[in-house]
Amino acid sequence: MTIDDLRSTPYLVLDTDIAARQYRRLAKAFMGTPIMYAVKANPEPQLIQRLAEMGASFDVASPAEIDLCAKEGVEPERLSYGNTVKKAADIAYAYERGVRLFVFDSEAELEKLAEHAPDAMVFCRILASSDGARWPLSRKFGCAPEMAVSLLERAAALGLDPVGVSFHVGSQQLDPSRWEPSIAQAALVFEWLRQKGIHLRLLNVGGGFPVTYREPVAPIECYAAAIYGAVRRHFGAHVPEVAIEPGRYIAADAGVLRAQVVLVSQKSADDDHRWVYLDVGRFGGLAETEGEAIQYRMVTGYDGEPTGPVMLAGPTCDSVDIMYQHAGYQLPLSLRPGDYVDILGTGAYTVTYSSMGFNGFSPLPTFCLGGSSC
Ligand SMILES: *Cc1c(COP(=O)(O)O)cnc(C)c1O
Repeated sequence: MTIDDLRSTPYLVLDTDIAARQYRRLAKAFMGTPIMYAVKANPEPQLIQRLAEMGASFDVASPAEIDLCAKEGVEPERLSYGNTVKKAADIAYAYERGVRLFVFDSEAELEKLAEHAPDAMVFCRILASSDGARWPLSRKFGCAPEMAVSLLERAAALGLDPVGVSFHVGSQQLDPSRWEPSIAQAALVFEWLRQKGIHLRLLNVGGGFPVTYREPVAPIECYAAAIYGAVRRHFGAHVPEVAIEPGRYIAADAGVLRAQVVLVSQKSADDDHRWVYLDVGRFGGLAETEGEAIQYRMVTGYDGEPTGPVMLAGPTCDSVDIMYQHAGYQLPLSLRPGDYVDILGTGAYTVTYSSMGFNGFSPLPTFCLGGSSC
């Protein structure tokens, strides 16, 4: 990284030491349970390498993510192909590369797995409510628990190894109690299958663990306690191994996005709301500002000085390229074009969400700090 690189905004600075700290905190709170980092949150190779050195496993969703992990020295036994929507050729590719753990949520996907990943271990993902999540996952993934039972039974009949149940309660999930309903359903699936002589062994409670943006969140220990409490209540004497799949919790705090003010303007002389246009927006990496869902903290060189209300928008000619109109953001009155705005907590779901070059604006580059590999 050179001084010239750092003059040309926007860019993300990613500190892998902070990601490592988040990983350690999570590992401690969850008492050594397997951690499968969701690569899509931030696939920066140095981050993957750092987490791999610390013993992480990885949740991957495509051949490219498999190759990326392999390139950083991650053995295929540490990969879980967690996408429930896979092309047959991609399943075959993963299997050929040694991946033996796959997630599915439908009969058609199970047939594909039986054909292209014979004898692999499979998880069935059940539908989970995303209530309470700032970035909900809707009903795109997962099936009803009753269907999970018949599909896992069928998996065994097809020669696959049914290992367990997974779910995801929505990203940036603020409510620690939201895991319990899905844990209760998973326990029923385990029990119904036990009665049929099929013994599942792994419960994957997904990701969703929140970080601090503008609103405070409960410490991670509260989430671990709520999840383990629910597992004990619902599984009783048959407590399974628990796995987690964090993305945001590990990567978000490790990133700071440096942007520059392009324009400060007003729509009429008597309107005290300033429009602040940055050189990064919804298409340049801040996609999660859609619906003002994720509200990032921002730092400027004028902190402590008087502030006033602002609308924040990106630099493209698309009218949806507005980050915040209703969220009540305030920025210093002194803010001028050319000033930097540092957007905090931007290590997750930014770089991978930046467009290829919409309106001629480049994808967001990353500069990495921290760790032995830098
Ligand atoms: C994206 C994703 C995760 C990570 O979710 P976070 O909310 O970032 O923790 C975990 N599991 C699966 C299957 C995912 O798709």
